[in-house]
Amino acid sequence: MNIVTRKFDTLVVGAGGAGLRAALQLSNAKVKVAVVSKVFPTRSHTVAAQGGMNAALCNVTADNWHWHMYDTVKGSDYLGDQDAIEYMCRAAPETVIELEHYGVPFSRLENGSIYQRPFGGQSQDFGGDQAARTCAAADRTGHAMLHSLYQQNIKAKTHFFDEFFAVDLLKNDEGDILGAIAIDIESNEKIIIEAKTVLIATGGAGQLFRTNTNASINTGDGMAMALRADIPLQDMEFFQFHPTGIAGKGMLITEGVRGEGGYLVNNDGERFMERYAPHAKDLASRDVVSRAIAIEIREGRGCGPNKDHVMLKLDHLGSDVIKKRLPSIRDTSITFLGIDPIEEAIPVFPTAHYTMGGIPTNRFGQVVVPIGEGTEHALPGLYAAGECACASVHGANRLGGNSLLDIVVFGRAAGNHIIDYLKENPHHKALPEESATSVLQRLEYWEKNTVSMTESYTVPQLKAELQLVMEENCGVFRTEEVLEKGVNAVKAIKDKLSKASISDYSSVFNTARIEALELENLVEIGLATVISALARKESRGAHSRMDFDKRDDVSWMKHSLYFMKNNLLTYKPVRTQAMTVATFPPKERVY
Ligand SMILES: Cc1cc2nc3c(=O)[nH]c(=O)nc-3n(C[C@H](O)[C@H](O)[C@H](O)COP(=O)(O)OP(=O)(O)OC[C@H]3O[C@@H](n4cnc5c(N)ncnc54)[C@H](O)[C@@H]3O)c2cc1C
Repeated sequence: MNIVTRKFDTLVVGAGGAGLRAALQLSNAKVKVAVVSKVFPTRSHTVAAQGGMNAALCNVTADNWHWHMYDTVKGSDYLGDQDAIEYMCRAAPETVIELEHYGVPFSRLENGSIYQRPFGGQSQDFGGDQAARTCAAADRTGHAMLHSLYQQNIKAKTHFFDEFFAVDLLKNDEGDILGAIAIDIESNEKIIIEAKTVLIATGGAGQLFRTNTNASINTGDGMAMALRADIPLQDMEFFQFHPTGIAGKGMLITEGVRGEGGYLVNNDGERFMERYAPHAKDLASRDVVSRAIAIEIREGRGCGPNKDHVMLKLDHLGSDVIKKRLPSIRDTSITFLGIDPIEEAIPVFPTAHYTMGGIPTNRFGQVVVPIGEGTEHALPGLYAAGECACASVHGANRLGGNSLLDIVVFGRAAGNHIIDYLKENPHHKALPEESATSVLQRLEYWEKNTVSMTESYTVPQLKAELQLVMEENCGVFRTEEVLEKGVNAVKAIKDKLSKASISDYSSVFNTARIEALELENLVEIGLATVISALARKESRGAHSRMDFDKRDDVSWMKHSLYFMKNNLLTYKPVRTQAMTVATFPPKERVY
């Protein structure tokens, strides 16, 4: 292979919160680590996180990590693995304090301790009064975290490959993942990064849907790389729709608005969440609030000339609270709507937000795959963390504030496990020459096929088609008929993409080639999502089937595993046993 090759102990693909937290653990332990990111690290999507990160610090209300665990299990609609959830909730307070010591400028209470706001699905004493568990840096928590983690990595001398696009994982004949091939986006030069261990931390796939809260970089690349390496994706049918996206545009208005006392009203001015969740009201979990909004609109109580949204009211909070606690929300609303929320309500509608499924891992961040009936094993040296992974702590519905927690807890856990693994496995394994053959063929296709040469579909057209198909056929409410249409439509798009071309300007801007590779990834994630959704014949968390409208614990307390080869689906049981505490058996989920 005539390609530049670099060797490291660990390759981390992704420089969001998960990748940077893992890299920091590794660099501080003197592991030679390379972080590859398709954007400059501090532009990673973690930067957009607004409301905060959950941890039972007890700064505002009484709290306990076990209550946090209960809320997370209930929020997951009992599909989350309870050992992993216990691990995450126990570790939460310590990881927040660590971040504070790394320099994250959390907002403060009068007494100087970290400010915490109430978020959806949080309770005291196993379902009692509302808890305030979300540690916040105003409404820019992700920005604060990402910048602090990046600075700490610079100090620890982590090696960054900024604006390099990882295309695929590379493996030997035994199936060990030994690195990846990447492209320097500016020059289109290829590079092979060989490593003894690889961590995938490439974030979510919100770009699957037309209206979403995600940046254009969130195209599920790492998940698709895993699929192509014969690794399945878990629980892909569960995609979170956030209740309060700006109507018609999708940008997020954080749940922190409702945490600070904002609430939703319909066309009659009614605070309708009181009917759907009498106890938690507007702070019920996200799937519940999104469905309530969709029902209000379907039954004709939507607002505006087309009755197609509801209103989020926060003017009663007063300008001091809005300016101090929600400054970015105010900016967003003024910029995109010309509405100052100090004076007027914001029009909102559910918007695609978070990928609950992903690369299956255990609580150490190791990627686990099935090996026969009921057993699985961890792939040596391969790890995943963050939104691209499925640990599984979010199950069928993630609680707000639990993702920033997930990325730092499991980023750190993966880093720790890698350090131990490298002590036992200090040498590089040989990477065969032909390991990159198929990926080089793919790259060659996109180098040749520009629109000037062939009359065919273009990448931007097909991306728009995919996003519309997913929105119309795999949204908040689903049925057999609509999902079947979705499966066929995404398969047709995959077929068209295999004959598509990229714009002429690709000779000038490599980004056109990158967009083609990203779309290939998105299409695979779309198929995984819609095929898994068609197969699950029950309603649980974010997966709401109008034709199977009840949760079915007898048949469906299990995780789906989707393989790219033959679009195969298998299942594995939910881990219902916690590590050290009593578990929470499934019961009816009311808020
Ligand atoms: C608007 C918004 C607000 C949110 N607010 C909150 C909140 O308040 N609290 C909360 O808990 N959660 C929140 N979330 C969710 C949370 O921010 C994300 O789930 C989390 O930050 C994901 O972190 P990550 O490290 O997994 O991935 P990301 O931060 O998305 O980083 C992914 C990294 O992978 C890199 N990458 C991807 N593909 C490639 C490739 N092919 N080659 C090279 N590099 C690649 C990217 O460059 C990037 O560095 C919010 C999400 C959104 C969209």
